[in-house]
Amino acid sequence: MHEQGISEEEIFEELERFSSLDTNFKKVMSSMCTLPHPIAIRAHQRFIHTNIGDPGLFIGTCEMEKQVIEMAAVLLKHDNPKEAAGHLTSGGTESNIEAVYHMKNRFMHAKDTNENDAGARSENAKDVKLNLIVPATAHFSFEKIANMFNLQLRKAELDSTYRVVPRSVESKIDENTIGIIGIAGNTEFGEMDPIGKLSEIAIKNNLPLHIDAAFGGFVYPFLKDQNELNQFGFDLPGVTSVSLDPHKMGFSVIPAGIIVFKNASVLDTSLDRIKVKTPYLTSNYQSTLTGTRPGSAVAATYAVMKYLGREGYQKNVAYCLDLTEYLFQKLIGIKLKPKFPAINIMVVEVGGVQQTTHIRRCLREQFGWYISETKTKVALRLVLMPHVTKEDIDQFVLDLKYILDN
Ligand code: PLP
Repeated sequence: MHEQGISEEEIFEELERFSSLDTNFKKVMSSMCTLPHPIAIRAHQRFIHTNIGDPGLFIGTCEMEKQVIEMAAVLLKHDNPKEAAGHLTSGGTESNIEAVYHMKNRFMHAKDTNENDAGARSENAKDVKLNLIVPATAHFSFEKIANMFNLQLRKAELDSTYRVVPRSVESKIDENTIGIIGIAGNTEFGEMDPIGKLSEIAIKNNLPLHIDAAFGGFVYPFLKDQNELNQFGFDLPGVTSVSLDPHKMGFSVIPAGIIVFKNASVLDTSLDRIKVKTPYLTSNYQSTLTGTRPGSAVAATYAVMKYLGREGYQKNVAYCLDLTEYLFQKLIGIKLKPKFPAINIMVVEVGGVQQTTHIRRCLREQFGWYISETKTKVALRLVLMPHVTKEDIDQFVLDLKYILDN
């Protein structure tokens, strides 16, 4: 750090230089984030100083957070949204960490008190490793979580459409299982696991079921065609928590994630172990993973959810799906065979591992496109976010064809 500060002008010149190295999302089809909505930016700026980790100082912002959780609970078909518990997080990773943190503490509580089924199951489990059952498509945040909580990650098999096979999930449950994860919009393919079936398994085995809807949470509820295959909310009785990210398809600012628990009572046993006293804050205790938390993200999320409403999100999803269909047809037009997309994520095979990586690199180095690759299947992966246009797709397909032909 310099001894003396520099002028505002100089600072902003420096900032511009840094910013010029960043993307403005033009030619980006690898990211699950997009530009925030202008309403979200305005609200974010207005609440830039607020800290919802100290709720007594920011009563209004905390009230707004409650309302965001209530709106999310309505979206997730809670029959009594006011009963939902939850808060904003920094995104899908933190939300998933919290969901599993509760699962582990619920299990440990049962083990200690030995007063319910889970306790009976865990009686002899003193030194064995606890486990968590996830679909093989689970986001890499679960690798971090397993490491953090010393869990064995049991990866359940997928069917030919990359949705988890319920029988495989059930076969992996034992007396040391702390919970089950289902995904509503997996990172690689956008596919939704059969959550209804997972809900039945969770109830039968008295296990919590967390749905990772980090991406799909602001997509699936807004599809025109609502059927039992794309339901993942609290109307399914086994679902105990859901994570969904306003900073992905929700049009809010980064960082903004949401974790919603069905109700405070699902947390009863775990909260006792998680709560810590907060003597120097305006609250008596804290049970969130992080301490200081940005009220600006709450305001941005509240503002954009209220501003767009269901209709606005439906239009946004329809726009992204139209782009996806457009790209699908264009890829077929150049003799490729893309996977039929579940939502606005397109996966297309272009050869083996080396060829796929080579094409991706050429697209980046020769034409400036950012796209990604899937690992579960060797293929290119493109996410059609709201910042993409049909003109972008036309150019992308021309560039891809040029690389394939040369
Ligand atoms: N879960 C899913 C399904 C995701 O796709 C992602 C990110 O892409 C995450 C969790 C992690 O979200 P974040 O990067 O906001 O922590």
